[in-house]
Amino acid sequence: MPTSQYNRREFLGVMGAAAAAAHAAPGREQPNVLYIMADDHASHAITAYGSRINKTPNIDRIAKGGVRLNNCFCTNSICTPSRAAILTGQYSHKNGVYTLGDALDPNRNHVAKELKNAGYQTAMIGKWHLQTNPTGFDYWNILPGQGVYYDPVFIDGGQKKKHSGYCTDLITDFTLDWLKQRDKKKPFFALCHHKAPHRPWDPAPKYAHLFDGQTIPEPDNLYDHYEGKARSVAAVKMRVGEDMNKTDVKMDLPADLQGDALRKWAYQYYIKDYLRCIQSVDDNVGRLLDYLDAEGLAKDTIIVYTSDQGFFLGDHGWYDKRLMYEESLRMPFLVRYPGAIRPGTVSSDIILNIDFAPMFLDYAGVKTPAEMQGRSFRANLEGHSPSNWRTSMYYRYWMHNSNDHHVPAHYGVRTKQHKLIYYYGKPLGMKGANEPATTPEWELFDMQKDPREMKNLYNDPAYRGLVDKLTSELARLQKEVDDTPA
Ligand code: CA
Repeated sequence: MPTSQYNRREFLGVMGAAAAAAHAAPGREQPNVLYIMADDHASHAITAYGSRINKTPNIDRIAKGGVRLNNCFCTNSICTPSRAAILTGQYSHKNGVYTLGDALDPNRNHVAKELKNAGYQTAMIGKWHLQTNPTGFDYWNILPGQGVYYDPVFIDGGQKKKHSGYCTDLITDFTLDWLKQRDKKKPFFALCHHKAPHRPWDPAPKYAHLFDGQTIPEPDNLYDHYEGKARSVAAVKMRVGEDMNKTDVKMDLPADLQGDALRKWAYQYYIKDYLRCIQSVDDNVGRLLDYLDAEGLAKDTIIVYTSDQGFFLGDHGWYDKRLMYEESLRMPFLVRYPGAIRPGTVSSDIILNIDFAPMFLDYAGVKTPAEMQGRSFRANLEGHSPSNWRTSMYYRYWMHNSNDHHVPAHYGVRTKQHKLIYYYGKPLGMKGANEPATTPEWELFDMQKDPREMKNLYNDPAYRGLVDKLTSELARLQKEVDDTPA
């Protein structure tokens, strides 16, 4: 590289990046990363994942040009903890962010800090939701807390400013503005975090009437009445209809409807607004992809589309997330990186949100710090999964019976075929506990015979041997990640 084009500082910067890149595959530069994360976007509302209820042509462009992960799972399915796990590469019990009420310690190491040290310029735009202000970013412009959809306030490097417009469009505007003015000599790591499609599912005015006059297909288990499930699961308050308010459906709930009839009615209002919000997310993913194409950046940029967790879209009659059930546990994860990842591929390996940071660091030629518990899945993305890749995963939700949805705290193990969940009730002094104890309960599901998780097999004598095996595996994983049994 001819040094005459660079001043000394730039030269050292380039050499630092080159040294870091030396750890990467030969001949590959440090790639840019554009990481787009929605909030509560379930994979079954993405065409590339087989959605029956909407179309996402722009998100699908990433799937067509790259790889779709079919078994990407969250380690604690709720906003703040998942965001902390993604950044730090650590489970909640290691990074200290167990519940919606916990803050990310600004001094804690995370992926953006590591990449900044390796020569990247870093930006965080949109929903942060980790209580403390971001650290490790050259630029940050975030929503305060949850933020709002219409004319939102943003905190730009500490300064509050109200903007006119729709949140999803604005977050994309700010991302594009930053990309346009960035230092083009350095690789970038840009986090574009949407608020959408989080509750209260307020659509952009231009999409207020999208789906009017249509009937959105119902999930086959919309009228689940939880027979055989853990009693604490049957009691959770996230039923479409009965556990909604007038903000959710944008009108008073009809007094003459109850139970299944109310569920049927509310589902259409709920799902249409949810999908309208996604329509704006998809449009704005298209704007970012078009920018990368127009600037000739697509080839050198890893672009990811994901969500902080999944969501129940009327599945089991529910909205929201938190539970270890599939629709909540599964994160959509699509990634395109031309040249390294073959277009239109699919991986069914078990990948976790704590693996994201090590994967980005791997591509940047940075060694994963010892405290990160995740593992790079770069090889998996590129079609040659390590033979010793994990075949089971550990999950833990800590926010016991919090007053909004009354979901019990639980932990569990998921393998490719089975899932064992333990709702442990309330031990003394448990983080997030604010209600009386509940009786410990178990659930077992066969994901191949019963992918919709309708039949709890835990008490079936035929499954005794499997229960023992999975209970041991759960204990092994818990020990491996250094968590403490309840
Ligand atoms: Ca979320």
